Amino acid sequence: ERERLSRLKHTPAVTLDGQKIELLANIEQPEDAAAALKAGAVGVGLFRSEFLFMGRSGKLPDEEEQYQAYRRAVEGMQGLPVTIRTVDVGADKPLDRGASRAGEDHLNPALGLRAIRWSLSEPSMFLAQLRAILRAAAHGPVHLLIPMLAHASEIRQTLVLVNRAREQLDNGGMAYGHVKLGAMIEVPAAALTIPLFLRYFDFLSIGTNDLIQYTLAIDRADEAVSHLYDPVHPAVLQLLASTIEQCRAKGKGVSVCGEMAGDVSLTRLLLGLGLRSFSMHPSQILAVKQQILRCDTTRLQAWAQSVLAAEDPAALMTD
Ligand code: PEP
Ligand code: MG
Repeated sequence: ERERLSRLKHTPAVTLDGQKIELLANIEQPEDAAAALKAGAVGVGLFRSEFLFMGRSGKLPDEEEQYQAYRRAVEGMQGLPVTIRTVDVGADKPLDRGASRAGEDHLNPALGLRAIRWSLSEPSMFLAQLRAILRAAAHGPVHLLIPMLAHASEIRQTLVLVNRAREQLDNGGMAYGHVKLGAMIEVPAAALTIPLFLRYFDFLSIGTNDLIQYTLAIDRADEAVSHLYDPVHPAVLQLLASTIEQCRAKGKGVSVCGEMAGDVSLTRLLLGLGLRSFSMHPSQILAVKQQILRCDTTRLQAWAQSVLAAEDPAALMTD
């Protein structure tokens, strides 16, 4: 089976009705670019930069160290786009104690100072990361992705800092490249205010891992409630469907980069909801592609609408 799958590496991901599907890789280290290419990914849809910041007692990577890491990822992808997400620390991805406030105990870390909230509370750290990403973009196509946004004020503050990072590089005479700007949709508040995000961003990426957690109030890491962590809960599906639809209506790129994207049992549903870009662990890419090659999206569209309207969508998933 694995051999059969590996023959699909160079096969374009196109459905029976001719829809081209973009299959991207999620990576955690620059060196993972090799696995992404080997699996036939057409780019990196999510580079979780926080892995450069974790497991380090005290000293976080400075601009130069980050620049070198991002540049290795960009060069490793040989001209294919690399989506670099700014740090998503806190909650299930804590920094080491002493490294920052995000490493402290909080009653509700998933609702606390994590991701963009942490970055905005540490502007000099954030600016260093933004400069490093912009500099890496001089070596190949880079998309800059911001996690956990929920408020218009956070969006505006973030964009001010991105512009400031560019000014700092200009003033220092440093080379940098153009980046497309994207926001993660992983908080229900964001999924319910998509027009706001489409005003400010070039593309959106749906983080279903957190979107499910926050929509259903289920801690994604808590075994005691894992039976209630349901990717096809009607509320989750509605948020997904409306986000995808609004992006497509405005001609903006939208992908899913949570675990749902790499789950072959959900490929048909996501295609039926209009999704055309999936980002997943490299090990899932060929299996998802195999599924895509058998799909007819015109048929899946009507079926997905009935799943969306069902009291118990999971019961329809095997149709
Ligand atoms: C997500 O929340 O779906 C996501 C891709 O981000 P992470 O899993 O890194 O929180
Ligand atoms: Mg997330």
